[in-house]
Amino acid sequence: MDVLLDSSHGKPKLLVVDDQPINIQVMHQIFGADFQVFMATSGAQALAICQANPPDLVLLDVVMPGMDGFEVCSQLKSNDATCNIPVIFVTAHTDAAQETHGLSLGAVDFIAKPVNPAVVRARVRTQLTLKFQSDLLRKLVFLDGLSGVFNRRYFDQQLVIEWARSTRSSSPLSVIMIDVDHFKLFNDRYGHQAGDDCLRLIAVTLKSSLRRPADLVARYGGEEFACILPDTAFDDALVLANELERRVRAQGIPHAESSVGGVVTVSIGLATRTVDSGGDASALVGLADAQLYCAKQTGRGRVCAMPLGTAGLA
Ligand code: GH3
Ligand code: MG
Ligand code: MG
Repeated sequence: MDVLLDSSHGKPKLLVVDDQPINIQVMHQIFGADFQVFMATSGAQALAICQANPPDLVLLDVVMPGMDGFEVCSQLKSNDATCNIPVIFVTAHTDAAQETHGLSLGAVDFIAKPVNPAVVRARVRTQLTLKFQSDLLRKLVFLDGLSGVFNRRYFDQQLVIEWARSTRSSSPLSVIMIDVDHFKLFNDRYGHQAGDDCLRLIAVTLKSSLRRPADLVARYGGEEFACILPDTAFDDALVLANELERRVRAQGIPHAESSVGGVVTVSIGLATRTVDSGGDASALVGLADAQLYCAKQTGRGRVCAMPLGTAGLA
């Protein structure tokens, strides 16, 4: 795979850091046609750019007044938001000790100034290929292969993070559990392949119904999905849960064996952590699951909901 020719990425973003503008200009001549080139003339500026708009790779001068390149590299590597950006040092002072030091700080390569355009281009290309491949792997680890939405692993991880955030900021947190109704009968009648297609369509429908960037939907199990809605109060989450039920039903996927109305429907359980509720993240999921069970027991194709605070959970 040639990442530089892979249009799905757009042009790769390259940050060139050097206190001498002439050196930045040289790099711009080398990379300007194939890359979006960003520039920084100090370490502090480089760190700010990496935080605000993370590049795909940094070409980093070692000797700069104030914060030197080594310091910039170690700060990038110690921050979760920037630690996966590959850093290549570009320096006039190449000796083994310096190079070893730079590599020990997490840089992936060392290039000598004055740079040879063909060499620097080849090395950057190699590192970018590796970077895009590892980005893809990091993403795949958290995606469900069948439906394309997040997987259970990601859901569990995010729920713990969002529970902690909700505690810190005294904000509500809602969880929605969704289970397809009479899905075994659907498979029996229409076949497993049609069942898979149905799950994909439900996943897309759920995903496109979420409104905030922080909301997420994951495939929780076989024909179960789950949503995390950070900073979403009970009433708002209930509106959304009803909307999810309505939208899946509105897809009109035929299900002749279902008792609910001839089309595929879902049962939904909602639970919200209010500011003063106790318990923990798994208690919240447990309550949403209990509400899902309630929706199943009372006719399917509906929403049951409960705020955690009033549920009396420990
Ligand atoms: P209920 O309304 O009570 O939820 O009934 P149900 O039939 O949906 O529930 P049950 O748990 O009995 O059956 C779930 C079915 O979902 C059985 C299983 O074959 C099917 N299923 C689970 N994962 C997949 C999948 O990835 N693809 C397909 N096609 N079917 C799946
Ligand atoms: Mg189920
Ligand atoms: Mg089911």
